[in-house]
Formats: sequence, structure tokens, C-alpha cells
Amino acid sequence: MTTKTRAAIVRDGATAFSVETVTLRDPGPRDVVVDIAASAFCYSDWLALRGDTGLPELGIYPVVLGHSAVGTVVDGGADARYPAGTRVVISATPECGECFWCRSGHKDQCEMLFVPAPVLGTLDDGSEVRMPGASGTYAQRTVIRDMQVWPVHHDLPDEWLAMMGCGIVSGMGAVANVARPEPGASVVVVGCGQVGLWMIQAARILGAGRIIAVEPIAARRALAARVGATDVVDPADGDPGEAVRALTEGRGADYGLDAGATIDSVQQAFAFTRLGGVVTLTSYVRRDSRVDFPLFDLALRGRDVRSSQSGRLDMRRDLAQFLPWLQRGLVDVDAMLGGIRPLDRIDETLAAARDRTEVTPIIAG
Ligand SMILES: [Zn+2]
Ligand SMILES: [Zn+2]
Repeated sequence: MTTKTRAAIVRDGATAFSVETVTLRDPGPRDVVVDIAASAFCYSDWLALRGDTGLPELGIYPVVLGHSAVGTVVDGGADARYPAGTRVVISATPECGECFWCRSGHKDQCEMLFVPAPVLGTLDDGSEVRMPGASGTYAQRTVIRDMQVWPVHHDLPDEWLAMMGCGIVSGMGAVANVARPEPGASVVVVGCGQVGLWMIQAARILGAGRIIAVEPIAARRALAARVGATDVVDPADGDPGEAVRALTEGRGADYGLDAGATIDSVQQAFAFTRLGGVVTLTSYVRRDSRVDFPLFDLALRGRDVRSSQSGRLDMRRDLAQFLPWLQRGLVDVDAMLGGIRPLDRIDETLAAARDRTEVTPIIAG
């Protein structure tokens, strides 16, 4: 078993990746070694690269990013749950199955989430490479806890399954697991990138009546309409709150979903939701970000504000819930996929995500 791999390294102050050779560490007793077949590039890794998510403060460079992928187990520790040859999806959110949160129905808050970044291996100069997100999927091979991988028994393409661990669970999970709109309900989605477009797809499949997409980029408004939005709102055309109210008999939407990765999108999702409605938040902007809600509206107006860490995923349930939607053709997957490029071209992949020219660029090979 070769212990060397290629990985996209991020160094302190870098604005680009450098693809280098890493000598992998030996797997611990409950780790598996996974050959990455495809990894979805996440916009949050652009935020991480530019230092917004707290990496500079942690002082753990060099690092490998990436947290949503599919691959095959090739090796593992003595107690690892999955043997070599198992096809698995990878997510940044672990499910240890034993902590208070895992046992009380809150697997998305497993106490093994946000643990100090584990080591993937060493560079040729001897420096240790760490994995924030504990996944390290922007590599050809990674060493990962078996509580972050789940076997898949579908023959769906790698680039589809690569999106499961972040975009699909974060977007479709926010609707199906957290907001849970009833058939016929009105829904507003603020921000139509990867997460917002998955939200729209899930809202359509679950029978939402009116699905309003608020998005400044024309190409993304077109995609929103393609995957199920009944109405699209360009914030440049005037007060988007007025536009949403005009479409919902003056009340605001029954369900507000934030997927804009900005403070504005969080506040707008709240403001565009009717009194007594349900607001679901997914954005994480900076580690020290704060948002303002009018206390009168928050305390006395009956809106139910819900946090949606990775769509409050429960990966076994969500694989069983969402993959049949993909298999049966209920989801427009092509609308979600960007270019598929090898690891060596990760800077082009980064540019496609950063410049928002592609929804989900894929790294494969
Ligand atoms: Zn992500
Ligand atoms: Zn747990």
C-alpha cells in the first residue's frame, strides 16, 4: 500500500492551492483510508482559503480542505467498520452514534464535530498537514474517521454522489428535515447558489405551492426557475421584500430559507417570512459574524427561527431519503453540476466557485 498521495495544500496567506505530495499517516484503529473518486467544491472553502472562517487564528497551516466526496475504502485500522472495497460518501459532519447528541436525535451536533483538525500526513519538508473539517477530500487519497463515511449501494455517478455530503444534505435537508413545508405552502429562498438551488428542488418535490427565488445573478435566477422556482426576484429591481409580499397576498412567505452566505441573506430570509412563519438559516459568513433582528419582530411576531447545520443531517436516513429522488429523475442534477476537472486544475475549480460561474464544480482524478 503506497502511503503517498497528491493533495491541494493551503498555506498561511495563500490565495491559491498548491498541489503537492503528502505522505499519509497510518490510520488509527477507527480510521479508514479512502481513494477519492470525486469531490464537490464548496463555496465555504473559498471563504476558508481567504481566512474568513478562522483558519489564520487557529494557526494550523498547511492544511487540506474539502468535505463532500465519494470514494472507495482501500485500507483501515483494526476496528474500522468498513472493509476495503466499500464505496462510501464523505461528509464533514461525523456521527459517532454514542454521544448525547447522536443518541438524542441531533446527529448534526455530534460532539466529534469541530474537533481540532486531525493530521493527514506530512509534506516532503516534514511539516504536518492538517484537515479542518476532518475530511481532506481535495486529495487523491485521505485518512478519515469511519464515523464520517457512509456506504452507498447505488450505482449513481461519482459526480452526483460527491454532492451528497454538503450541498444535497445542506440544501435539501434544510427543507425536508428542518423547515418541512406542507404541500401548497409558499417558500422564499434567499440566495440561489448550491444550497439555495437544492432547497428549491426539495421544495418543489415536497409540493410547495409558490417557490420564490431571490438572487442577484441573472444566470442563477434562470437556474432557479429551471429547477422549480415559480417566481424569481432580482433585488436590483427594487425592494425584494415588497416583491415577496406582493406574491404572497401581502403577508410574506410561509417559509423563509436563507442560503446566501451573507448577513443580508439571513436578515432578509427573516424579513421575507410572514408572521407565524418558519425561518431556516444556513449561512455561515465569518466566525465572528453577528446578525441583527428587530426584537419586536423576533419576540412578539411568532416567527420560528431554526438553525440548519448541514440540513440537520442524519446521513443514513438522508441517503435513503434523497438518493431515490436522484435515481427516479425527480431532481435536475445537471443544473447543479459544474465542470469536472482533475486535482491538478483545482485553481480553475476554485475560480469557478469564487466567481459563481458554476454551481458545483467537481474535482475528479
Ligand atoms: Zn460545504
Ligand atoms: Zn456523536
